[in-house]
Amino acid sequence: MKTVQHNEVLESIFIELDRNFEDVKNWRRYLHQHPELSFEEVHTAKFIEEKLVSFGLEVQTQIGGTGLIGVLKGAEQGKTIALRADFDALPIDDEKDVPYKSLNQGVMHACGHDGHTSALLGTAKTLSKFRESIKGTIIFVFQHAEEKPPGGAKFMIEEKILDGVDYVFGAHLASNIPIGKAAVGEGYRMAAVDKFEIIVEGKGGHGAKPHESIDALVIGTTIVNSLQQIVSRKIDPLKSAVVTIGIFHAGTAFNVIPDTVRIEGTVRTFDGKVREQVEGDINSIVKGITSGFHATYKIDYLHGYPALFNHKKETETVRELLSEVFTEAAVIEMEPSMGSEDFAYFLKEKPGTYFKIGSQNDNENTHFPHHHPKFDFDEGALLNIEKSFVKIVVHYLF
Ligand code: MN
Repeated sequence: MKTVQHNEVLESIFIELDRNFEDVKNWRRYLHQHPELSFEEVHTAKFIEEKLVSFGLEVQTQIGGTGLIGVLKGAEQGKTIALRADFDALPIDDEKDVPYKSLNQGVMHACGHDGHTSALLGTAKTLSKFRESIKGTIIFVFQHAEEKPPGGAKFMIEEKILDGVDYVFGAHLASNIPIGKAAVGEGYRMAAVDKFEIIVEGKGGHGAKPHESIDALVIGTTIVNSLQQIVSRKIDPLKSAVVTIGIFHAGTAFNVIPDTVRIEGTVRTFDGKVREQVEGDINSIVKGITSGFHATYKIDYLHGYPALFNHKKETETVRELLSEVFTEAAVIEMEPSMGSEDFAYFLKEKPGTYFKIGSQNDNENTHFPHHHPKFDFDEGALLNIEKSFVKIVVHYLF
């Protein structure tokens, strides 16, 4: 019985989504032209606020920064669902040749957050017209600063936006997945990300008299090489970890032994114990090598986003729901990746799942990887995000 009612209401909501789709595309293009960097999204937040107010939602702004929420209360009591979109851009020059190219030099929506935001706005606008049928509450979470740790999610959650929330859902466009497909997967799907800086202090000297100095550069290279052995020799081969060094700075002249070296890198893991182990191994390796060569050291170790864990029950539910929106064959497995995403904080607090929506079509302009200066997507994917969110809402709240 419920299914029949659901199908009827879904049909009318989907018709309404189609009717509003021109707006969604225009919002996306407007946001794409006016990108703002993480923690600086004042104009974007204002734009979202105005839209949410015009849909008649209760709006709370400046949550943990520039974050904001729109609350849609149904006619009857029921569960509370949070749907989240992120809205920050990246420090990248837009190299596309399109009418909606970024107008802010050096800033670009190169990850699709403009799409996430306009799709969630579209979902909010359409669902606000079906308030009478909703049993429960929908919280539309517009989150700032996903791209820059410590990220906006943590600060918004600290402001208690998830109090009383039963389930959380988030979606990301995927330029490596064809349009019309979605990817869903349970368990750890994205990695915890940490950042470290190691400073080694030796003793500078003349390049001709190494015995009178403590060569920080050579000690530094020994550290870099030894850190490679954490993953190959210390971590259980059936577990995953990455240790990448991206910065190595030492020296000022060809014939001077440097007194200092600065090394920076990132650690990616899924399992919490592996995460701790890598940190411990970095500390002990640096300590051992520097003490062996009579140098001193300092390590600054920053814990970034936790690993993203999709809850089993909600993931299976979403897999089934999306199979009905698309087809069973169109819902593929979301492969685990060592990339990171601060929606992980939401999933640490509440059950839910994070899934991907394919945005690639036959045009090669939609094939660039996320964060590429030519990144773009098939805007039809925005309608697919909306339909997915609506299907989830109808399942839980209608
Ligand atoms: Mn992203």
